Amino acid sequence: MKKKRTIRIKDPRVRKVRNELRLLLHEAKSKEVIQKIEKQKKLKKSPHFWDEKHPNYTTLRKEDQKLASEVDRLRTIYDRSIIKCPVCMKLDKDMTYNPYYEGWYCIECYEANRVFNIEEGRPDLYP
Ligand SMILES: [Zn+2]
Repeated sequence: MKKKRTIRIKDPRVRKVRNELRLLLHEAKSKEVIQKIEKQKKLKKSPHFWDEKHPNYTTLRKEDQKLASEVDRLRTIYDRSIIKCPVCMKLDKDMTYNPYYEGWYCIECYEANRVFNIEEGRPDLYP
């Protein structure tokens, strides 16, 4: 998206459904990240992971890098999603999209950052 956009949900039943879905997505992401990090820990417990001369060394290192990049990818997608405000970390807020940072912020954090950035002479960061 290229434009600032705010999504407000007024109906309390719809808000409840939205919040439950966000929580579900948050938990699914966390579970996935934890599983990948646990796999990385297992890889690093192997003595072959640390032995450059072992034939499995390259395979283990590549698997570790693959897991690390998958975790980075998941976190990047999550951090820019509408699921959670990256400033206050709340999952149950109405959100505003920031086209400069290409991410969603709750309305309150967006407004606080917008005012701060105007004072700092950078109104372009929070239009
Ligand atoms: Zn916030």
